Amino acid sequence: MAATTNENVEVREIDYQKGRGLFSNKAFKKEDIIFEEEPLVCAQFVWNKFYHYTACEYCLRSLETAEEMGRRLTENSSLILPYPECCGVNVADFAVCKQCQAVYCNEECLKQAWTEYHQVLCMGSSCSDSEHPLNKLQEIWRNIHMPPESSSIMLVSRMVAMVKQAKDRPTILNAFTQFSKATENEETGFAHKLLGKQFEEQLELLRQMTKEALYEDEIQQWFTPEGFKSLFALIGRNSQGIGSSSISVWVQNCDKLDIDETERQNIDEFIDQLYEDLDRVSADFLNCEGTGLYQLQSLCNHSCTPNVEVTFPHGNHRLALTALQDIPPGEELCISYLDECTQERSRHSRQRILRENYLFQCICPKCLSQADDPDLTSEEEEEMDEGDEGVS
Ligand SMILES: [Zn+2]
Ligand SMILES: [Zn+2]
Ligand SMILES: [Zn+2]
Repeated sequence: MAATTNENVEVREIDYQKGRGLFSNKAFKKEDIIFEEEPLVCAQFVWNKFYHYTACEYCLRSLETAEEMGRRLTENSSLILPYPECCGVNVADFAVCKQCQAVYCNEECLKQAWTEYHQVLCMGSSCSDSEHPLNKLQEIWRNIHMPPESSSIMLVSRMVAMVKQAKDRPTILNAFTQFSKATENEETGFAHKLLGKQFEEQLELLRQMTKEALYEDEIQQWFTPEGFKSLFALIGRNSQGIGSSSISVWVQNCDKLDIDETERQNIDEFIDQLYEDLDRVSADFLNCEGTGLYQLQSLCNHSCTPNVEVTFPHGNHRLALTALQDIPPGEELCISYLDECTQERSRHSRQRILRENYLFQCICPKCLSQADDPDLTSEEEEEMDEGDEGVS
């Protein structure tokens, strides 16, 4: 299980609106890694799995080589990536669950999954049986939640399975209750955001199916309508998208290559073109493979001028919090829930996106300094809004 404390940071109570925050305990230089952390629980997005995006069932590491992934996502079957030695995928290490054929990037991940939740969730030979409650649950989720997904019903299933399997149930239950709670109003807001207009019916449908698949007396509070809604809101409020692409690993390794200037220029141009093609063909599926709950990172508040960012340097679910600038000791560490383009929009436009997606009124220094700006959203921004919510 992931560590909840780290010597580099400190959790402090801030105020009623923001609750807790994460603060630096010492000075950091730009690009320093402040901490690394594995999630308490994570899951691949249901749609990604449905489209056979192969990722390790435990750590979400992509099981496609960078070249295979590039070919699929650019829809160019003759794409050849130079420097194949920079691809981090080791097919020889793969391990498979003997009961259900779930694939893992290595034996270690298979063992971890089995120890934490997979004994409960393994469907054995019923994997492709559409009547299996866990398959029905995923089908319901797909029908009510179109891509791009920002959360996953499988995260709920894994949380339940972890409790069912745990030798020490109070500890795991306590770990889940440490995540920030949403207020009752926010809970409805999150359900609405994740499930759309008919959210009450949808939520009820998901609850009944989850109950059929995984009911457990000892956590009956999670299966009541109120309890299930709270669980859902906990995920909506705290979950972090996990980017685990083979292509990013390949790009990172290419950056480290010791090559001459001409070769460097060639590979940089190749990579720029590749990203352009990826974005054009598969934008909705690019950024995240799944989602997870991180105990420390979830304590980071949002700012429209963030001083830290979340990265996935190992190509799996292990997250790094990295400094975007020099940070003195005692400063609050803030990430941005908005992508880079959206951070540049007007205060009015940023606040609307944050309100709609994260249900809070931003009071970061940038928003406060622009508080007197007129409440206008430029036409260009309105147009962008139609296609893209700008949320990372
Ligand atoms: Zn793995
Ligand atoms: Zn299995
Ligand atoms: Zn702000």
